[in-house]
Amino acid sequence: MDALSLKGLAKVYPNGVEALKGIDLTVREGEFYALLGPNGAGKTTAIGIITTLVNKTAGKVHVYGHDLDSDPAAVKKCIGVTPQEVNLNMFEKLLPTMMHQAGYFGLTPRQARRNAEKCLKAVRLWDERNMLARTLSGGMKRRLMIARAMVHEPKLLILDEPTAGVDIEIRRSMWDLLREINERGVTIILTTHYLEEAEHLCRRIAILDRGEIVVEDRMERVLRQLPEQHFVISLQQPASPGQKFAGFQVHWRSRYEMEVEVPATRSLNEFFELLNAAGIQVLSIRHKTNRLEELFVRLTMPDLPKLPDREPGPTLEQPDVAKA
Ligand code: ADP
Repeated sequence: MDALSLKGLAKVYPNGVEALKGIDLTVREGEFYALLGPNGAGKTTAIGIITTLVNKTAGKVHVYGHDLDSDPAAVKKCIGVTPQEVNLNMFEKLLPTMMHQAGYFGLTPRQARRNAEKCLKAVRLWDERNMLARTLSGGMKRRLMIARAMVHEPKLLILDEPTAGVDIEIRRSMWDLLREINERGVTIILTTHYLEEAEHLCRRIAILDRGEIVVEDRMERVLRQLPEQHFVISLQQPASPGQKFAGFQVHWRSRYEMEVEVPATRSLNEFFELLNAAGIQVLSIRHKTNRLEELFVRLTMPDLPKLPDREPGPTLEQPDVAKA
């Protein structure tokens, strides 16, 4: 079953801005899906339409088979959403925050209490249930927003920049939490400016740009579209800088470190064979830049050359290396 289906979805605001130019998109049940795009791409508009806050101009929206036009209440029941800005009532305690939200969805007090406990425990905020929202740290507020979005047990969770403004440690623990939620069967759609976050979490991805979808595919296939990859290789022993390797562009940073460009037509193994033949021992290897970020910039910056139109071949297997 499709969790979300958009067909020809278009939005023209009264001022004439065409925020969405007829997009088609399908998110399958259980997926962890990234919806990316630069500012102004139309992400918030799309989320606004799906969550019934913005009226569409044209197109069809189905959420778990429910048609937004004929049954918006059923669509709303299926969806939990966390907005970009923290919009908690700061003078309310955590448990009432959850109970009130459950009330909006028509849960009985007994159901609301049970779900509130379950969700607060899931985001590890049960011990804080009698605290005021304003006393929570930034990361805890974000977790509370996720718990609140889940209180009516939605099948689809839409998270708009869920880790905006939280530090890297908290972000990583949020990733664990989101993975757990997804593994329990909740479909997640995520927008984020941290492309590393999307690369870590999401199996499928769409990139929106100026109201159109420029890429929609499985993450690993998208990443394979890069015409070349850059790696930084650290060596166990110093080597003589300036050494060349046929078919690969190498830039020596020092006697212990080099950068290599591996075109999509070659494999990293081939380069390692050349290193072996030269008696060079590798200590570590990492990508020079985040691959998704590189692709994103190429696709959404008009001044840069577009990617070549080609089927991603099976030649370039991604090695399991640490990210830059
Ligand atoms: P994103 O979330 O990807 O940054 P938005 O959906 O917010 O993109 O915006 C898409 C386009 O629609 C932008 O050009 C933005 O200025 C415009 N836009 C968004 N909301 C409104 C509105 N209420 N009225 C007019 N134009 C809007």
